[in-house]
Amino acid sequence: MIRIVRGREPDITQVEREWRLARALIEWHERGRRAYQQTWSRDERAARFRQGYTVSRGTLWRRQHKKCAYCEIRISHAEDTEHFRPVNRYWWLTWSWENHFIVCGTCSGAKGHGFPLRMPAASIPEPDDRLCPRPGPEGVWVDPAAEDPRAFIGFAIETRGPAIRWIPTGIDAEDRGQATIADFGLANDERIEQLGEYLADLEAEDDLPAVRAAAARGEVDAARWGALVRRTVTAPRAPWRALAHDYLTDVRAALHREYGVDLPPLPDIIDARPAPTPAPPFTADPLLDALAPLDALYVRSARAAKVPREHRERALTALFDHRPRWTSTALHAVFPAKTPSTLKTWIREAPDLQRDGDDIRRIRDR
Ligand SMILES: [Zn+2]
Repeated sequence: MIRIVRGREPDITQVEREWRLARALIEWHERGRRAYQQTWSRDERAARFRQGYTVSRGTLWRRQHKKCAYCEIRISHAEDTEHFRPVNRYWWLTWSWENHFIVCGTCSGAKGHGFPLRMPAASIPEPDDRLCPRPGPEGVWVDPAAEDPRAFIGFAIETRGPAIRWIPTGIDAEDRGQATIADFGLANDERIEQLGEYLADLEAEDDLPAVRAAAARGEVDAARWGALVRRTVTAPRAPWRALAHDYLTDVRAALHREYGVDLPPLPDIIDARPAPTPAPPFTADPLLDALAPLDALYVRSARAAKVPREHRERALTALFDHRPRWTSTALHAVFPAKTPSTLKTWIREAPDLQRDGDDIRRIRDR
């Protein structure tokens, strides 16, 4: 496992998140908070949680250099988006860029839907007074986008007869690395076999045997060594870069011990940059901040491509409660994705609104 840099959230995932999250929060509020999760049928929950997956999928897969975020295996195409914090409990993170990874089927199958907490008794907080979700309690698992997995996971070398096996192993005092390995299946038999085959291939290709042969003659083949390191350790697309780094570090030390040669040291692949600040669930909007929290959610919901009639009506009511007269230009600024003719229809179908040229106002006594 190595550090993942997702980079800036694509605009499209932000747009999708805002209205989907607004609808989930409306439902959470209206259906009775504690009962919220139970009120959804299994099918309903699956359908809702799948929404919004696809918009981050391709971008994230490319940003992850087409590899699994957990085990570093190459992935030929982006599977379903994986949620680091499972959406059955952290439902408001369903559409959050910071909670998305692309992972291989093996990792996703092994990880399941749990999420162990560092303080097991910690409770999951409800949205705040503004109906805005709050961050969940800290988890045990290493989040490869928020911290450097190299500080938690190393390799143990195990000799079994002629075979040498490199086994992912936890190295931090809190055992978070070990918990991650165990729960994601990073050291299961299939994985260890893959790592072993990869190292065997490395030994069988041209570069490493040539470097070894040169070392045996007391020479340093810096060109071959450099090419090997670039291909297996530095190249962002290389699979199992952490393993390649540690394996070649070990090779380098051995060649120094045996033949006294000094190959150039390996570049560090530790990325200790601090975790990026998660984007707030909703972008700041002075108009919406001035509305009652639930009203603001209805307006956000009404910005989506398809709007339930009730949400559209609630949004208009909230806006005209806030300000009894609007110009169509000002109203269009609130719903930038709507065409003027759609907004015209909305006004025409609203029983208490009247349009007079560019001016729209509420007729209270109608
Ligand atoms: Zn994987």
